[in-house]
Amino acid sequence: MTEKIYLKNSYAKEIETSVVETRGNSLILEKTVFYPTGGGQPADTGSISQINGGEVYNIIDVKKDGDEVVHVSDREIMFSKGDKVVCKLNWEKRYMHMRLHTMLHIIDGVVFKKYSGDITGGQIYDNSARMDFDIPNFTREMLDSIIRDSQSIIDEGHNVVAKELTKEEASKISGIARTVPGAQLLEKLDVVRIIDIEGFDFQLDGGTHVANTKEVGKINLVKFENKGSHNKRVEFSLS
Ligand SMILES: [Zn+2]
Repeated sequence: MTEKIYLKNSYAKEIETSVVETRGNSLILEKTVFYPTGGGQPADTGSISQINGGEVYNIIDVKKDGDEVVHVSDREIMFSKGDKVVCKLNWEKRYMHMRLHTMLHIIDGVVFKKYSGDITGGQIYDNSARMDFDIPNFTREMLDSIIRDSQSIIDEGHNVVAKELTKEEASKISGIARTVPGAQLLEKLDVVRIIDIEGFDFQLDGGTHVANTKEVGKINLVKFENKGSHNKRVEFSLS
């Protein structure tokens, strides 16, 4: 099982570790700071290099395979089991993913508290994120109000903390698993990870977040699309 440093410390940008296995362009390490695609957050990119100035491989994709994290390079990886390596993130890109992910949780929390209706989907991209809203009679004015409320939460500077709960503890909290995949995950796992935006909201989550809402910055509306009565698709960016 790969030790997933990003779940405990999302600010770890670089670590030393050892090679477990290579398969063509793919590499498994004892531990990693690379986040694999999942939960609406894209994979990290960066590099993995041999300690003492050996080969350097660009990492272009990262996937989950059971309990392992698989790093994918653009060429065949010639490391051997036990080799000591440094894995290093493209931090600028990852930090934007963290800011956008926390932003999505804040918007979701505002919608959950103030509106009847759901957020039915979300996806983080490199410089923006989208959300799909299924809220009755959803208007641009409602969206503006959601953005204003979310911005207030950001500006208040709430700490954001990853915590682990048992399934029993988690099931007692209403609204902890708001999505169908979230509810299924809650059923499957013994220990669940939540992201607590202290004093505001918490949600089941496996992603990487900033430590304080102030780091999110300013929400900008990029696009508001009407995809039918049950789906308004909205894209946000941050400055
Ligand atoms: Zn999330």
